[in-house]
Amino acid sequence: MLIHNMMEVGGKMKGKPIEMTEKTARQWLSERGVSVKEIGELVLYLQHKYHSNLQLEECVANVERVLSKREVQNAILTGIQLDILSEKGLLEEPLQSIIETDEGLYGVDEILALSIVNVYGSIGFTNYGFIDKQKPGILQRLNDKSSGECHTFLDDIVGAIAAAASSRLAHRAESTE
Ligand code: MG
Repeated sequence: MLIHNMMEVGGKMKGKPIEMTEKTARQWLSERGVSVKEIGELVLYLQHKYHSNLQLEECVANVERVLSKREVQNAILTGIQLDILSEKGLLEEPLQSIIETDEGLYGVDEILALSIVNVYGSIGFTNYGFIDKQKPGILQRLNDKSSGECHTFLDDIVGAIAAAASSRLAHRAESTE
């Protein structure tokens, strides 16, 4: 795995098959009930007022590009793994209770998600804060504590992917105007 990854750092990005980390990150997102389309809908929610005629497909395409970044895949894998372990009660205390109850003062979930927002610069921070307050669409469901599922990390990760995709979209729109 390590050798495989090291070889990829120097390898060509174009046309390469989706490798293990990306494949697993995408699979885990899907298994935890989050679709790329739903994240695209968050991007549309964030950006429609700034770009007339913005279509969902363009939002989804930007989400796809964000998901192809290694830093993003690493955050997804780490966060979802912790959510799953806490759902199964497999973490050591006090971390088990902290993550299971999504304790307000914990904050590491937000910090991990910032590694995603960072990829596309500072516009992302504003979007990330905004969407976390509003909790539209899929974020509403991920925050539903009555489901018995634990999405302490995933809600921030999904918000951060949408914020990063929004920044990417905004930067690109600016450079083509
Ligand atoms: Mg959280």
